[in-house]
Amino acid sequence: MLKIGITGGIGSGKTTICKVFETLGIPVFYADTVAKQIMTTDSILIEGIKTTFGAQSYFEDGVLNNKHIASIVFNNETELNKLNALVHPAVFRAFDEWDAKLPQHLPYSLKEAALLFESGSYEMCDKNILVTAPHALKIARVTQRDNVSEEQVLARMNKQFTDRQKLKMADYLIENNENRSIILQVLDLHEAFLKMAK
Ligand code: ATP
Repeated sequence: MLKIGITGGIGSGKTTICKVFETLGIPVFYADTVAKQIMTTDSILIEGIKTTFGAQSYFEDGVLNNKHIASIVFNNETELNKLNALVHPAVFRAFDEWDAKLPQHLPYSLKEAALLFESGSYEMCDKNILVTAPHALKIARVTQRDNVSEEQVLARMNKQFTDRQKLKMADYLIENNENRSIILQVLDLHEAFLKMAK
């Protein structure tokens, strides 16, 4: 079974596009959602976090002390890199477990990750899709979706590679703007992946 990575900047519409693939019967692994879940379930990750950021990273009942972690990694690239170096391999492990359980007759699966290129995860996929959208449209969509300010969206955007950097690493592009149908673009790629999987 082929493994296809899909990414895009904040608000580019990658989750929306994954939902279209799901309607075609393609399973999607949502890496960012899984990353949050495994913070309290993956014992190797939990030990790593406690060793690196202190036992107070978790409350006695096992709940993650988000405030403690955020206070350390916020605006501190070195500490954030340490956290990512623990979380990314744990997400890779979770993906492999998930993927191994999928029915083998499926042509391909999708791995959706905001930091697909930044984490090195794209190297484990056979092909990678980049979703792009106009800057102003991304900001408008996210401010509305998350009820946050433009400044907060820009701060989140600045932590990611630019589309220009990601384009160099992507095999396929989906343009999620007001002039192009995402459904037709997904159908084209789906056809291509079905052929590739044969
Ligand atoms: P993030 O990285 O922040 O999770 P994302 O790339 O997964 O973002 P989505 O959540 O899919 O982006 O889309 C952002 C918002 O824009 C959502 O509210 C979604 O419904 C809307 N949206 C995305 N694409 C379209 C589209 N083609 N037409 C209308 N609304 C759209």
